[in-house]
Amino acid sequence: MGEMTESQRRWEAWSDAFSAVVGALPGQIEVPCPEGDGRPVRVAFVVDPEDRVGVGYAWCDGERVGIFLTRMKAPDGVPTLPVDASDEELAAMVPEDIDFLPRPRTADHGQDTT
Ligand SMILES: [Zn+2]
Repeated sequence: MGEMTESQRRWEAWSDAFSAVVGALPGQIEVPCPEGDGRPVRVAFVVDPEDRVGVGYAWCDGERVGIFLTRMKAPDGVPTLPVDASDEELAAMVPEDIDFLPRPRTADHGQDTT
């Protein structure tokens, strides 16, 4: 294992910011985006309405970048989209032009952390 690469650090910073926002939900807190423009991190969830598990998105409206996490549970009281939402419904919640950063590999031997 070497040191974290720049892309890993960037992704981890986004993951930390995402966690901070999610931890406060359904309360609203402003977590500045890790890219440095000071705008708040935005989040949205596209989930199975039954168990509220699905994909969580976090992004910045300034730099138009973010991350997404799968198998994530949307906190209670937070608006979500169903997994079968239309493209229009999705685009209304998650901007279509966000550049979602690929999740960097964190283990050298392909270990899955799930
Ligand atoms: Zn930003």
